[in-house]
Amino acid sequence: MQSPSTTPRALAPSLTVKPRLIRRLLLPLPIILLMLACGYIAYYTSVQIGIRALAESGERQLELHARAVESEISTHTYLPSLLELESSVSRLLLNPTDYRRDQVNDYLEGLNRRSGSRAVYVLDRKGRVLATSNWRDADSFQGEDLAFRAYFQDAIKGKPGRFYGIGSTTGEPGYYLAHGLRHQGKIIGVAVVKIRLDPLEKRWERARLEAFVSDENGIIILSSDPTRRLKAVHPLSAETRAKLADSLQYHWTTLKELQPLTRQRFAADAELLTLPASGENAGEEQPISYLAQTRRLNDPPWDFTLLSPVQDVRREAASHGMLAAVACALLAFLLIAWNERRKVIATRLAAREALLQANNELERKIAERTADLRSSNERLKAQIRERQQAEVTLRKTQDDLVQAGKLAVIGQMSTSIAHELNQPLAALRTLSGNTVRFLQRGALDTASSNLATINELVDRMGRITGSLRAFARRSDDSGDARLGKAVDAALFLLHPRLERTPLRIHRAYSDARLAIDQTRLEQILVNLIVNAIDAMHGQSDRQLWLDGHAQDGHYRLQIRDNGPGIPPSVRVHLFEPFFTTKPGEQGLGLGLTLSASLAAAAGGNLSVQHLENGGTAFELNLPLLHQSPAEPSRDE
Ligand code: ADP
Repeated sequence: MQSPSTTPRALAPSLTVKPRLIRRLLLPLPIILLMLACGYIAYYTSVQIGIRALAESGERQLELHARAVESEISTHTYLPSLLELESSVSRLLLNPTDYRRDQVNDYLEGLNRRSGSRAVYVLDRKGRVLATSNWRDADSFQGEDLAFRAYFQDAIKGKPGRFYGIGSTTGEPGYYLAHGLRHQGKIIGVAVVKIRLDPLEKRWERARLEAFVSDENGIIILSSDPTRRLKAVHPLSAETRAKLADSLQYHWTTLKELQPLTRQRFAADAELLTLPASGENAGEEQPISYLAQTRRLNDPPWDFTLLSPVQDVRREAASHGMLAAVACALLAFLLIAWNERRKVIATRLAAREALLQANNELERKIAERTADLRSSNERLKAQIRERQQAEVTLRKTQDDLVQAGKLAVIGQMSTSIAHELNQPLAALRTLSGNTVRFLQRGALDTASSNLATINELVDRMGRITGSLRAFARRSDDSGDARLGKAVDAALFLLHPRLERTPLRIHRAYSDARLAIDQTRLEQILVNLIVNAIDAMHGQSDRQLWLDGHAQDGHYRLQIRDNGPGIPPSVRVHLFEPFFTTKPGEQGLGLGLTLSASLAAAAGGNLSVQHLENGGTAFELNLPLLHQSPAEPSRDE
């Protein structure tokens, strides 16, 4: 059966793209998006975690190195105040002489050497250098007027002088610690210690540490990277710039700003900065991102900033991101594969289920059909049994009828038979009486001749009774009959009738072997010949034609008479049982019925032809056992 959707489905492949194909084509897109999302999330998370870890370790480093800066400065803090205890210094300040100056110069030189500072010197109340540790050097401070220096101005007022600056004489950066020297409660001069902080930078360099220290003006005074030195960490106002330029604190240096490319606050004291690359290959290299952590120093009020490069964290995060993206893709592929497999299994299960159902349905139908077949088989068997029973009954009835027909013929012929037998009996009686007398007379020849005649008569009587017995015997449908013998037997049986009603018989048939019982064939012939004799009874010219020929494995024998023929009113009832037109007990109406039935049982038939020029022809058609050549017989 064709489903209504067959035609559109058949056209579909050429007109539309299968949804499965679309799914396959679109599948890479969400997978790529998923990979990107996973990769980004992993990257972002890894960066956050990495920076946090960096911040934690940076915190420790920051503390360590900030303390190092503090201790570097604090070791020299006490030094200027020490000079107050030195009486030679007080004496020089109160009453300066060359001798005293030389004395103090020597003292300061030794002190400076021992303390590891850059220079130690003493100023009078006007800010002129009275004695200095570097009195021997060409660029000695001796006699120099440093009253403009902020540290002097603070110290002379009794405040601790703290100052980072670039030396006006040497052009060398240094940290100046100043102290107002008192004598009897009055400040008589100022002691100053200059220390160099660049060893700290060297130490940072050795430790591969990136850091800088910015002073209270926000100017980087110490830096692991020299290019960042003397740059402002935040924008300077024009006023501040002018003030700083006037103070010559940073000598003649033009103060620039350290300008990060990006700046992002990470925590209260930490931010993410991207700084342009410094050093020799500054132009070629990529900008570097740092985590900048800042801590205020206790004394002086400077800021120590530690720079931790974050590119390692970013690189690691990028590989984490890539790893996560690949893992996501792998997971997605596994899920897809699992899903496909699940579908295949589901399809197989459904197919198996459908097969099972179809099988069950088939089995059910087979069981139903088997039951139907069994019941119809039973019905058929019952019908066959009934038919067999009916056939047996029919055959028995037919046999009975045949037998009845035979007996009827014999009954009809009984008078003629009796006559036929009475004649030889009478002759026998006469002959036997004569023979006795001839024997008594001794006429042996005559007696012997009479006995021979008696013998012949007895033979004849035996033949008559023998043929009657054979005729009356029950027989089968099939058999092997000789046509010539059957015609002779029938005519012999009817001999008494033929003697009384003579007729001319024309024979034109062969002695064919027919597939019918001999006696039955004889009976059919007797019936047909008797009917012909009966029909021609009242006429003087009586003729009977027996014409036969073989055709298609059958033999057709025509029994034709020149009688009055059969009237149309009789024709329709001809083969009906017990239909007869013969008066009294002459006819039973079974002759034609039985003859037709016997012919049919043997696989042949009996039909009638009504001839135009009078007379009736019956055609007996019987199967041949063996084909025998047509052999025309004698004509009587
Ligand atoms: P029955 O001979 O006992 O009457 P049949 O069945 O042999 O029964 O014949 C039925 C009838 O057919 C006969 O009574 C007769 O009227 C008619 N009939 C049969 N053969 C012939 C024939 N050769 N010519 C004319 N009538 C015939």
